[in-house]
Amino acid sequence: ITLVLGGPGSGKGTQSTRLATEFGMAHLSTGELLRQQVASGTELGGQIEGLISRGRLVPDPIVVGVLQAAVKDIVRAGNAGKGILLDGFPRTLAQAKLFEECVGAPRTVVFFDAPPEMLRARLGARGRGDDTEAVIEERLRLHAVETPSVVEFYRQGGVLAGTRAT
Ligand code: AMP
Repeated sequence: ITLVLGGPGSGKGTQSTRLATEFGMAHLSTGELLRQQVASGTELGGQIEGLISRGRLVPDPIVVGVLQAAVKDIVRAGNAGKGILLDGFPRTLAQAKLFEECVGAPRTVVFFDAPPEMLRARLGARGRGDDTEAVIEERLRLHAVETPSVVEFYRQGGVLAGTRAT
């Protein structure tokens, strides 16, 4: 398992696609998985849509459940031989811990660090449905609140790329 972390607009989706292609890994984006849930029109999808459209995080057990099912599908289909790259997950320390319990520890974690001004400028240019000004600010706020403890968790665990185990 490889994890790719980064703020909204950091380019994690683009780079994750490139990395997964380069190394033959299966690629799962929690943002994409959640948007698929929305598109499926289920009641759960409706709840998720309300959160994404406001820039809020989807509750940890829902995200981990959706992700765990997708990981199982990949393993069952025999597509996990070169590893699985998870993009946009975990967004909270609780997700990181829940994932270790349910699936296991990652081997490598990559964090695309970028200042908020850069993220703001890039999101403004992208124009996805949840890229409006107020929603962008909420996503940046939650990223600033939640991401440092996630990065620190993996730094301590010695799996953050570009850092040494402490
Ligand atoms: P992204 O495609 O990574 O920009 O994610 C789009 C939206 O999906 C986010 O703003 C969140 O509302 C939701 N989302 C994606 N990944 C997660 C996650 N790991 N935990 C909670 N919410 C998530």
